[in-house]
Amino acid sequence: TMAPIPKNMSGILIEENGGVDVLKWKTDLPVPQPQDGEILVRNEFVGVNYIDTYFRTGLYKAPLPLVTGKEAAGVVVASSSPAFKEGDRVGYVADHAYAELTAVPATKAIKLPDGISTETAASALLQGLTALTFVREAAGIKQALGVSEGPWTLVHAAAGGTGSLLVQILSVFGAKVIGTAGSPEKCEIARKNGAQWTIDNRKEDVAARVKEITSGHGVDVIFDGVGKATFDLDLEIIARKGTLIVFGNASGPAGPVDLFQLAAKNIKLMRPVVFNYTVTPEEWEGFSNELFDLIKTGKLKLGIHNTYALKDVAQAHSDLEGRKSTGKLLLKV
Ligand code: NDP
Repeated sequence: TMAPIPKNMSGILIEENGGVDVLKWKTDLPVPQPQDGEILVRNEFVGVNYIDTYFRTGLYKAPLPLVTGKEAAGVVVASSSPAFKEGDRVGYVADHAYAELTAVPATKAIKLPDGISTETAASALLQGLTALTFVREAAGIKQALGVSEGPWTLVHAAAGGTGSLLVQILSVFGAKVIGTAGSPEKCEIARKNGAQWTIDNRKEDVAARVKEITSGHGVDVIFDGVGKATFDLDLEIIARKGTLIVFGNASGPAGPVDLFQLAAKNIKLMRPVVFNYTVTPEEWEGFSNELFDLIKTGKLKLGIHNTYALKDVAQAHSDLEGRKSTGKLLLKV
């Protein structure tokens, strides 16, 4: 039998937008009441994502006060969905994860298979689904083209959480992968993840190096989560008929874009969001289970930068925004 569900819980509340100081640890938050079709999850590990910083600063809007956080994994303690029962181990990508308990739409949760711990699920889901859906759906890169037969690809922040997974999946899929990262140590991590070429973006001339590496061809598919600081560079290094996938704002939002900038090389420009590739049950379960399989078969390795206590989330945000982290930042509840 399970412990009774308490009325109050601990968690992180944002009452106003701002710096890391607005992430307030509270011990008397009301436990959410799961609505129809929702499950109540006792979180064990919470994944930190760059998007959490956007909701903190107000770059992305949400009503305040807000319990932010977009992914976690733990155990179901109440369910109004036939798909889940108390005691099930689940991971999810949904709102309000920075807390002991979260009410989650059942359509946004997935049962964890044997061999996938809650720690692994909270490390892998959001960024892994991003990498998998962006490679497959946004870039249209199919698996097993044969080693180095695939397109020229470039991943910015290639040692980061999402970047590390993009590099691994692209190299498993047979693409030629160039990674950029902000230090020699980060470049080494990108190489271990399968980037055949790396460029230190703080020391090297990225455009010149790309020209040299690709023998003047340029990059066929660029994955850019850095945004403002790299967008003009992307237009310079992309190949004719290339696909430019801008998917984040680590340095601030890119744009506005003058569409004529795309004309010189017939560039396809995309601004995808993982949540909009994982909408139907087939998409959500299909991609999640494919991701778990990649992990279980050792094709995808998760590098955990650090596991912080939930109450120390401000430190995690500082490390992420300060370019101090590689791989995944986790919170333990
Ligand atoms: P990362 O672990 O990649 O951390 C961000 C990295 O960006 C840093 O480590 C740093 O790497 C690089 N960076 C470059 N310039 C800056 C700068 N000025 N300030 C801060 N960081 C900078 O984070 P995530 O994996 O969580 O997210 C990466 C990006 O992907 C974010 O923009 C995020 O919003 C986006 N994203 C978008 C999704 C979507 O659905 N559209 C889903 C998931 C993530 P280095 O020092 O090596 O350059």
